Amino acid sequence: MSHKHFSQLIEWSHSQYSHLPWRSQRTLYRTLVSEIMLQQTTVGTVLNHFEKFLNEYPTIFDLAKTSEEQICISWKGLGYYRRARNLRNLAIQIVEQFSGEIPTDLESLLKLKGIGPYTANAVIAIGADLRGLAVDANLERVLSRFYGISIVKGPKLQQKLFSDFKAKKIVKEIDRFSPRDLNEALMDLGRILCQARKASCLLCPLKSSCLAFKSGNPMSFPLEEEKNKMEDLFIKLLRVIVKDKNKILFYQKNSNEWLSGQWELPTFILETNDAKLKQYPKVKNKKQFTEAQIIKTGITKYSIDNHLVEMSLLDFKKLTEKIEVDYVFKIHNEKLNLSTASIKALKKI
Ligand code: SF4
Repeated sequence: MSHKHFSQLIEWSHSQYSHLPWRSQRTLYRTLVSEIMLQQTTVGTVLNHFEKFLNEYPTIFDLAKTSEEQICISWKGLGYYRRARNLRNLAIQIVEQFSGEIPTDLESLLKLKGIGPYTANAVIAIGADLRGLAVDANLERVLSRFYGISIVKGPKLQQKLFSDFKAKKIVKEIDRFSPRDLNEALMDLGRILCQARKASCLLCPLKSSCLAFKSGNPMSFPLEEEKNKMEDLFIKLLRVIVKDKNKILFYQKNSNEWLSGQWELPTFILETNDAKLKQYPKVKNKKQFTEAQIIKTGITKYSIDNHLVEMSLLDFKKLTEKIEVDYVFKIHNEKLNLSTASIKALKKI
């Protein structure tokens, strides 16, 4: 990352976002409060509540003194109330352990219950303007794109970024700039131009050194977690055709079944790898049907082999002795709302 791009990035960030109230007037306390508020909440929402909250709790001592109930009332509109309770607990710990002085070293900060690496680094870099990198989802994305790091997003990538930062392999130019300015500028970039679903590279001050931009496919960084491939679900169904002169035996699907209201040939499960499937009754004596003609269909996530078998009413009665379904003979015509699989099966016979 050349210095020039860094300074352009910082300039851009200053020109656009230095008016934010937690930036225009700084104290460690204001940084801590704003950082906790900004987690999981947009800048716009925090803007509506920040000053009011600070008026109510002007110092960390006020925050430590309040009740859990009261802080949740004051937090109204910001959501995720766990953060409000967390902030109050932090204030209590800081008052008790550090006489109300917010520590600015990583070790002390991480000992406080409720502070993780992100908030600790934010307090250090943004609050105290000391060397630190506050890696949240925005920085994770921006840095993995900028340096072309192909690692699945999440803890592994964050660890890699932290260790590379410590080893001065990435963002090593931070020593030339204000850590505060640089962290905030990278955050702004991630929030505004280098978003998860859209990268506005042409407007980005870093574009000429960005490896993701050079690759032509910036969105391919960081890697997305591969979704667990769903096991291919299959069903082998037995579709039975019982004829009586010009009528065929059907049954109507219940309201809680697939294709509810439609008519279907008597259908049974021969085999499936979905143990939970309860759409059809099972038949026991499967072997006798293995030679049957097969047609393929599919429904929702299942691929289905339909084994077609014609049999007499007597054999059918034997097959369904203990199965309670209302099978009725119907004329197969256009008025009968038949399932697609049944239509296909009847065409084959
Ligand atoms: S050039 Fe594009 S991908 Fe690279 S940091 Fe800027 S916005 Fe992100």
